[in-house]
Amino acid sequence: EKFKEGLTKTRDSFSGKVNDLVARYRKVDEDFFEELEEILIGADVGVNTVMELIDELRMEVKRRNIQDPREVQAVISEKLVEIYEAGEDISPRINMQDEGLTVILVVGVNGVGKTTSIGKLSNKLKQDGKKVLLAAGDTFRAGAIEQLEVWGERVGVDVIKQSSGSDPAAVMFDAIQAAKARNVDVLLCDTAGRLQNKVNLMKELEKVKRVIEREVQGAPHEVLLVLDATTGQNALSQAKIFSEVTNVSGIILTKLDGTAKGGIVLAIRNELKIPVKFVGLGEKVEDLQEFNAEQYVYGLFA
Ligand code: GDP
Repeated sequence: EKFKEGLTKTRDSFSGKVNDLVARYRKVDEDFFEELEEILIGADVGVNTVMELIDELRMEVKRRNIQDPREVQAVISEKLVEIYEAGEDISPRINMQDEGLTVILVVGVNGVGKTTSIGKLSNKLKQDGKKVLLAAGDTFRAGAIEQLEVWGERVGVDVIKQSSGSDPAAVMFDAIQAAKARNVDVLLCDTAGRLQNKVNLMKELEKVKRVIEREVQGAPHEVLLVLDATTGQNALSQAKIFSEVTNVSGIILTKLDGTAKGGIVLAIRNELKIPVKFVGLGEKVEDLQEFNAEQYVYGLFA
């Protein structure tokens, strides 16, 4: 339900246009496909993904000898789910360790909803019975530490911090020791999100990662990149940059409720081969959902 509600804007724009298209055409021809292509590109599905989808649709229409545009509509959903689920493991689940500490590094540009997502995710994990600890690794942005502490208090999770401007790798070291001493299940690590200086960002993330790797076997178990869905294709290019800097294992796509560009989910999946693990559907603590391709695609039309 929450998912459907969060997709309202994308659905209104996307399926409204598809419905209109289907109503206007008597038969499925080249013009029909061209208009459909435009609609999909407008929803930020991504050019490559759109091309793939349209090709698949063409073949399917031929194979099933579909004449009626209304029948194509059902095939669109089928194909969208297929495209999303194609390829390697697309489990939305977090790679959680059965025993011992799970370390999750959270990366992303300032303003995308990183702190909010960490807060929401801690709450979710806590509800699952996990003991959670936060590491205030964004020592660069003014107010970042305090903001994380506010979320920590809100959801009842401790925050390990140092003063603003201190070395994030040192914060991580402290946080890991604390996590081990307190028998914590999941350590969520915030990081700085300045993209202006890619070299520094890379160095900082590498150093942070090295400490985590050294202190906890097999860690970080997840590197979650937070992206703002309202930025459309910009989110895609941020994902590309972060993938160059570090091994991104999953995406938290925020503000899906505030955009008609929800098609970006498919573009990210198809063009970067990184699964969307969670979506943000609002500002409140409960507004974070595990991603589900079928729910998502059917939410676009339902
Ligand atoms: P950060 O700089 O990346 O840590 O970003 P914040 O966590 O401070 O979030 C920036 C703004 O986006 C805040 O006003 C949040 O309430 C808002 N926000 C975060 N996630 C969502 C979401 O899923 N939906 C909506 N509508 N707003 C969000």
